[in-house]
Amino acid sequence: MKMLPLFPELIRQLFREPATNKFPAKYLPPTVTGFLRDVGAGKAKLIPPVPAPPHFRGKITYQRDTCIGCGLCAKVCPAHAIELIPDVKRIRVWVGQCIFCSQCTSICPKNCLSMSEVFLLADENRYSDNLVVE
Ligand code: SF4
Ligand code: SF4
Repeated sequence: MKMLPLFPELIRQLFREPATNKFPAKYLPPTVTGFLRDVGAGKAKLIPPVPAPPHFRGKITYQRDTCIGCGLCAKVCPAHAIELIPDVKRIRVWVGQCIFCSQCTSICPKNCLSMSEVFLLADENRYSDNLVVE
């Protein structure tokens, strides 16, 4: 009898799109690295992830041309992920350290920082091009 209140929700869920999908492949490959290599070589197909929800906080983007080098973003970053390079008045973001709090995007007076929908960031090398934004 306790299940009765849940019944309408159960019926609703039956007709809803799933919130997740079989990403990155229908069956778990022996190694993810090898699978991604095969995808790059056109030998395997990646099942794309479900779209990111609104206001998702993914990899940071940086408009270098509009930056004035004020350093406010580096000051507020709780993870010390932003390095100010005084000589050129620009910044470098170490994405591997970022905790996606978005405080830097809120404080930037020139709106040159924003959070993208990119979230596939796993990498064995924290210095890889994918994890450094400048
Ligand atoms: S999102 Fe947060 S942790 Fe990431 S760089 Fe900006 S302030 Fe730092
Ligand atoms: S707060 Fe904005 S303008 Fe200032 S250094 Fe950071 S990115 Fe550049």
